[in-house]
Amino acid sequence: MSLILGIESSCDETAAALVTSDREILAHKLAGQEAEHAPYGGVVPEIAARAHAEILTPLIAEALEEAGKSLDDVDAIAATAGPGLIGGVMVGLVTGKALAMASGKPLIAVNHLEGHALSPRLVNADLAFPYLLMLVSGGHCQILRVEGVGQYRRLATTIDDAAGEAFDKTAKILGLGYPGGPRVEALAKKGDPKAVPLPRPLIKSAEPHFSFAGLKSAVVRAHQSGAHRPEDIAASFQQAAVDCLRDRLEKAIAEQERCAHLVVAGGVAANTPIRTMLEEVAQENDMAFTAPPQWLCTDNAAMIAWAGVERFAAGLSDPLDFVAKPRWPLDPTAEKARGAGVKA
Ligand code: AMP
Ligand code: MG
Repeated sequence: MSLILGIESSCDETAAALVTSDREILAHKLAGQEAEHAPYGGVVPEIAARAHAEILTPLIAEALEEAGKSLDDVDAIAATAGPGLIGGVMVGLVTGKALAMASGKPLIAVNHLEGHALSPRLVNADLAFPYLLMLVSGGHCQILRVEGVGQYRRLATTIDDAAGEAFDKTAKILGLGYPGGPRVEALAKKGDPKAVPLPRPLIKSAEPHFSFAGLKSAVVRAHQSGAHRPEDIAASFQQAAVDCLRDRLEKAIAEQERCAHLVVAGGVAANTPIRTMLEEVAQENDMAFTAPPQWLCTDNAAMIAWAGVERFAAGLSDPLDFVAKPRWPLDPTAEKARGAGVKA
């Protein structure tokens, strides 16, 4: 059995966790920074990096104490090394390196996206490779075929905004505040999803990718027209987002070698209509469906520790001069999507 310390600091969540290869989560600590960023309506990278630097070390100490373990008991230290806001990533990675050096334990530099991609295996011991992953978060919107540890085939990505970004921007336009996803979902419950005609970008298109920028612009126009109630805009936006995700997912399933399992990860997986749609698509295609619990879908260190467990078991570790990466695609062979110079 192995015990891994995981560290996460790629966006606005500072986190530390201790996880065993037996899928036991001995400690799981998380400090959000919502209050610091709320006045700006989004994450401010410099503020995030400073907050990580202040919080991370005591948080790791708390995690070790909660688990009743010391660094001597740990087999390796797994830290997110990218992709993400580089200042924050560097805080976590350098902390991981320092602990590795001081304890003489190996460092495992984890791709944050691999953390998301493997997280369902932390809660579902029967989830075997390969599986189809819908990764929907604030920074990413991808469909991946997860073929093994370190083996990912990207089937689709967004050519502009991520799904969570579209929810956050819609919230901002409607004056709902940050973070926007849950607020848009709550408001949408009171609205009519058919009230506002909104586009479904790239739906039925031959290329496999997602696009949400045009939907966001249409939300701006609908709001500015003054002709619609905010709850109707929220409900119509959410329905459009669900339709876009469904269409692209169905295309990926139809065109790929069969996977027995569909899995969702990322903060947007908290959205009930999106989860319901994914369950339906899985059922229609005779696939099992795994949605990790909510706390494991948003950024956390348990998924980084678990990716560390999987990499450690595969005999993988990294040198102490590993450089943090602001961009780090899971599938480096994937062709750049149209418009990918901006966000891919
Ligand atoms: P992550 O990037 O994985 O940390 O997830 C955060 C993203 O998930 C943000 O863009 C949130 O707005 C989005 N999100 C969280 N909850 C919901 C929800 N209930 N509906 C839609 N989006 C959500
Ligand atoms: Mg994330």
